[in-house]
Amino acid sequence: MTSEAAVPPIEVPCPQCAVPVEPESLRCPSCREDLAALVRLRYAGRIDYNEALAAVRAGDDPSALVLLRRALAAEPGLLPARELLAAVEARLGV
Ligand SMILES: [Zn+2]
Repeated sequence: MTSEAAVPPIEVPCPQCAVPVEPESLRCPSCREDLAALVRLRYAGRIDYNEALAAVRAGDDPSALVLLRRALAAEPGLLPARELLAAVEARLGV
């Protein structure tokens, strides 16, 4: 069974203050540091995973394969991506 649902957002804390980034502004609510680049980095695997889900739904397994491998390189603990990759690899016979 693969859970073909988008993964929930993760909290990205400010490296200085250890408080969560404001979701709207992507700034630290304490020191006002712009943490957009850090958030993008932390989310890279999930963004690829969500795009892979869309590719699978569109029947584009080869694109999903590339996206899922990249997602797992960015976030090896992303379990839904690992499960979906196994299913896509089985279908493609790779
Ligand atoms: Zn801060």
